[in-house]
Amino acid sequence: VAKPDPVLVVDDLVRAFGGLVAVDVEHLEIQRGTITSLIGPNGAGKSTLFNVLSGFDRADRGRWSFDGTPVTGRAAHRLARQGLVRTFQLTRTLSRLTVLDNMKLAATGQRGERLLSALLPPLWLRQERDIERRADELLERFRLDRMRTEYAGTLSGGQRKLLEMARALMVHPTMVLLDEPMAGVNPALTQSLLGHITDLRDEGLTVCFVEHDMDVVMGISDWVVCMAEGRIVAEGPPRAVAENPAVIDAYLGS
Ligand code: ADP
Ligand code: MG
Repeated sequence: VAKPDPVLVVDDLVRAFGGLVAVDVEHLEIQRGTITSLIGPNGAGKSTLFNVLSGFDRADRGRWSFDGTPVTGRAAHRLARQGLVRTFQLTRTLSRLTVLDNMKLAATGQRGERLLSALLPPLWLRQERDIERRADELLERFRLDRMRTEYAGTLSGGQRKLLEMARALMVHPTMVLLDEPMAGVNPALTQSLLGHITDLRDEGLTVCFVEHDMDVVMGISDWVVCMAEGRIVAEGPPRAVAENPAVIDAYLGS
């Protein structure tokens, strides 16, 4: 067993909506360079946990650190610059922009001060070129290069999922949180997305994703975390979690 090297550490995180405690996580560590699946029935708090950790929602309580730095309450664009990005359950592609512009927009967190850019056009131009090069690399990787100048609104549901993942990679992240990247996608594309996720892990990225299909979870995960009613009810290697009575209860109880 490799020495623990958590890239994300969460303590005592609570997020409630009125009287409903959506997330109540005592402790969670995600190990660097692994694929961790977050499972659990609908309403378990998975998306809310992602929202808070990625800076799209606030917590009522808790502390968390990313890559050795305390980042509690830090906003999404700052986290992205630090290397933590996420995708959404419903993709956030902008239909009336081209695929390439969607990619470029995802890099803005990295672009730095606008004013500085305006004052230093040559630097800005170089950044602009770097951003476009990165975008083209990723579009090719995800086989979207032929759609480069099409409006994103013309993409299929599956291509949108690919674009969503490609966008997340624009900032050269250390860790990606993927919320149901395979939901509603046909089996062939699911295989392709799984291939991409494995490749990213093999390149050293840390991937944490929400997934419902247990075959997918079993096949790809280094570690599985199961939530129910806001809490972590089990975690461990895939087989152990699948057989854990608390996990079976969580699904039967829903
Ligand atoms: P999951 O992603 O595991 O299906 P969610 O994190 O989306 O679960 O939701 C957890 C619980 O929090 C659910 O009961 C949901 O209805 C509630 N919830 C999520 N977001 C909000 C919100 N913005 N306002 C009120 N309740 C919410
Ligand atoms: Mg969800």
